[in-house]
Amino acid sequence: MKIGIDLGGSHIAVGMITEQGKLIAKKEENINFIKYNEKDLKPFIRDRIQSLMNVVLKELQIPIFTVKTIGIGVPGIIQENKIQTCTKYHIFHWDLAKELEEQYHIPVKIQNDAICAAKAEKKYGNLQEVKKAVFLCLGTGIGGATIVEDTILPSEYGHLILQEGGRKCHCGKKGCFETYSSMKVFKNGLIEKLQLKETTSSEQLLEILEKQSNKGEINTYLEEYLDTLLAGIVIIAKMVKPELICLGGSFVYFEKFLYHRLQEKALEKKQEIGETKFTLAKLGNTAGIIGATLE
Ligand SMILES: [Zn+2]
Repeated sequence: MKIGIDLGGSHIAVGMITEQGKLIAKKEENINFIKYNEKDLKPFIRDRIQSLMNVVLKELQIPIFTVKTIGIGVPGIIQENKIQTCTKYHIFHWDLAKELEEQYHIPVKIQNDAICAAKAEKKYGNLQEVKKAVFLCLGTGIGGATIVEDTILPSEYGHLILQEGGRKCHCGKKGCFETYSSMKVFKNGLIEKLQLKETTSSEQLLEILEKQSNKGEINTYLEEYLDTLLAGIVIIAKMVKPELICLGGSFVYFEKFLYHRLQEKALEKKQEIGETKFTLAKLGNTAGIIGATLE
């Protein structure tokens, strides 16, 4: 057994993974990370990881000493198993692995979250056969990875400049791709457009989309969002020329309203996109947790 942890931009998820890469239990908690300063955030994250791990272990009645490794996916730059930069939480230079190893006496490995998800898709999902692919993890931000044969490289696609002098990004630049096309931006924009409560959940948004009660407004919004998303994808496709672009993260949750439409729109840009095809993350939102346990 292995424990996989996904430190997302707005949640922490902990799962138990079998040797065969199967997720058998998962617990998660939504967290508003920006509420905390760096000093308080580190112990808080550690505490929430421990608490979620305890719930999973208790539910499965598995003693901690039977867990072989703990893997953690973090949205940031990881060097030598340490979190060097995670601008999303304003965390810098944190040896979280060492702290957890001292506590549990189990090896802990930290990796970039998009790399984790791409690894899981490469081993168990929709990227198994592909030679050159791009993985985009659309969630609170946009994580990226490039797959070339058996090598998976971290790629800052979320911080490509889509609009010079545009929206301010947490990375310090302006006009980054993720400030226009992350799923957080998608959901917040929809909430604003339809004048919904700020706290409207993804489940509620999906229901509203299903009902299409504001059909015209919703259509215009989806078109606008997908145009911007595609603008970023076109740049990536031109740059990397991958066989496949795999879309993961909570984008998969809204598949019905976004994915096919995006593919239709991409056909209109065939000249720019070339032979690049699209696929969705087969493992959906669990790719990150499963991938965190992979070497
Ligand atoms: Zn940025």
